[in-house]
Amino acid sequence: MPIIYKYYCNAGCHFLIKSHGLPFMCLKLDGREEILPHPIENSRAKKLTGKNLDELFKEGRIIFKPNRICLECLQREKNCKCERPKLLEISKLKGATCPKCRKGKILKSLAGVS
Ligand SMILES: [Zn+2]
Ligand SMILES: [Zn+2]
Repeated sequence: MPIIYKYYCNAGCHFLIKSHGLPFMCLKLDGREEILPHPIENSRAKKLTGKNLDELFKEGRIIFKPNRICLECLQREKNCKCERPKLLEISKLKGATCPKCRKGKILKSLAGVS
């Protein structure tokens, strides 16, 4: 059960993003990277490749990527459509200047357990 943190702006501009701060799993598949969503990593991998995660790990086809947010559109990396995304690991938002209002600072606090 990962712990979820929220990152929010102390200037009250409603910037808020929640993240468990853990890297997510990706599968290398035909030159692409498919996200294996939690908690169905194994079944998704099996559906895509016919193999289970253990085999794919041994083949080096499972990679871990940090959760990142685009500072241009404030979307998560997977939803970002920017031509030149400015990507930052969500865990590094803490203490950064707010990407939305550019006045406040980003604070981090516990948001719950998923
Ligand atoms: Zn973007
Ligand atoms: Zn702000």
